[in-house]
Amino acid sequence: MPFKSLHIIEPILKSLKEEGYTTPTPIQQQAIPIVLKGTDLLGCAQTGTGKTAAFAIPILQLLSATHAHDRKRKIRSLIVTPTRELAIQIGESFNAYGRHTGLKSTVIFGGVNQNPQTNALKQGVDILVATPGRLLDLMQQGYISLHDIEIFVLDEADRMLDMGFIHDVKKLLAALPKKRQSLFFSATMPPEIVKLASTILHHPSKVEVTPSATTVDTINQKVFFVDKVNKYALLLDVLQDENIKTALVFTRTKHGADKVVKLLLKNHIRAEAIHGNKAQNARQRALSNFKAQTTRVLVATDIAARGIDVDDLEFVINFEMPNIPETYVHRIGRTGRAGANGTAYSFCDAEEKAFLRDIEKLIQKKIPVVDNHPYPLTNHNPEPAPKHQQGQRRPMHSRPKQSHTGGNQSRWSGRQRSTAR
Ligand code: AMP
Repeated sequence: MPFKSLHIIEPILKSLKEEGYTTPTPIQQQAIPIVLKGTDLLGCAQTGTGKTAAFAIPILQLLSATHAHDRKRKIRSLIVTPTRELAIQIGESFNAYGRHTGLKSTVIFGGVNQNPQTNALKQGVDILVATPGRLLDLMQQGYISLHDIEIFVLDEADRMLDMGFIHDVKKLLAALPKKRQSLFFSATMPPEIVKLASTILHHPSKVEVTPSATTVDTINQKVFFVDKVNKYALLLDVLQDENIKTALVFTRTKHGADKVVKLLLKNHIRAEAIHGNKAQNARQRALSNFKAQTTRVLVATDIAARGIDVDDLEFVINFEMPNIPETYVHRIGRTGRAGANGTAYSFCDAEEKAFLRDIEKLIQKKIPVVDNHPYPLTNHNPEPAPKHQQGQRRPMHSRPKQSHTGGNQSRWSGRQRSTAR
């Protein structure tokens, strides 16, 4: 099904063609007609499914139908999203898809000087993409009025609640016009999200793309059982594989991310960390360096997880297993996007086996085990390893030979077998 059959106007079709999009993704096929009709939407979809375009394309189309080129611009659509990275990426999408429509959008987020943002607002915009804190701040300072909002989008609602933005969201809702179209997106739908959605939406149409459990089918997943103390050595070993041009490594904590970066740099592997403690421009710089492949390894915490959209990212490494199974799906969803090849390695110690079981339950499959790596698990009890076992390493002669497989194949591909856990 081509985009044309969704009755998308020519200026947007032109930009989609320039972006290289040929077919709408399932969420786009479902959501675009609903939004174009003016109906409220409840979308259950995660990043990586094409959900940004699923709301950006019809919003641009609806606004351009009534866009008066000779009048001062008013903010007619507001998109609220939890992280700065997501805000920037959504802003980039509006710019890309809307470049032939004459509509203007801007992005605001905290942690940076507000002047460039307020200057852009003063010049007038039709579409505003914002994180909640800075949005409320600039509203209070009188730079932003929500009186003319026709379409409101709450993006990544579950993440928003996780990050403690519920009060900010409620304040925003109170400032929005009653008569409006609302779109609500969340990757998961726990009861508190359903409740929040019901306060925002009016007779919504529901759209749900393939549950997260099956969207990861195209990703080549492997688990390495390893003692906690040996994870650093295993990471260095895995990164010896030259087929890994770039890798996104996840740690649970900011401190953990910094520690991994330090180790990699010491071993002459170009690495940078991206997490909430970093200044906004440092995070952006790290992301651009990674996209440009000047940085080989980007180490991220989960806060950054949903905000990273890197074309052709082939490797994700879970240095630590996430304790929430959905987080695993979000993490590995950074790779294998839009049909690209993707590989996800997970380092699992004894303590984390329970997390692995939850993940496998969610994705409804066993993740193949790599059992011939140099740092096999020796401590099977979830207690800390006794001193003499720490740092224990398999002797060189029993280490796996490095195979130099071509293309996207990693040296662990096809050599795993399922073992008892
Ligand atoms: P999102 O879920 O919005 O973060 O989008 C995931 C990725 O898919 C982004 O890199 C988009 O540029 C890309 N994308 C979105 N829609 C399409 C499409 N119809 N065809 C190809 N790529 C797409």
